[in-house]
Amino acid sequence: MHTNATWLSFTRSDKWTEEQLTEAMVAASYAMNAFIPLFIRCDAQDMAVVPQVKATHNDLPTFFVYDRYPGGIGLSERVYDLWEPLIQRTLEHVAQCPCDSGCPACIGAQHDADQKVRVRTLLQQLQ
Ligand SMILES: [Zn+2]
Repeated sequence: MHTNATWLSFTRSDKWTEEQLTEAMVAASYAMNAFIPLFIRCDAQDMAVVPQVKATHNDLPTFFVYDRYPGGIGLSERVYDLWEPLIQRTLEHVAQCPCDSGCPACIGAQHDADQKVRVRTLLQQLQ
């Protein structure tokens, strides 16, 4: 589908394996996706947050936010100006969630007990 997107790339830390980075980015995307509707007043189904560990255009870890409509309807453009508060709010939510290692209310159910810590570290790096 041809649509519009905005993206946020960052420099990869050498501390994590590719698998750890991939899983942390997937979990962070899950959490961010929950907050986009609060910032741009859309339905959660209107947008998709898609992580790529190595984006084709710059080889960097990148979060893409897509409009889920053919041609786009301008939603992702609005996210472009809101990355900072979106990441801040997502980080606060993940940090305040009373679960130990991730749950459906924050980063999704996780099999790795350290995943929640990694997501918090990742979101802090993005600020
Ligand atoms: Zn949780």
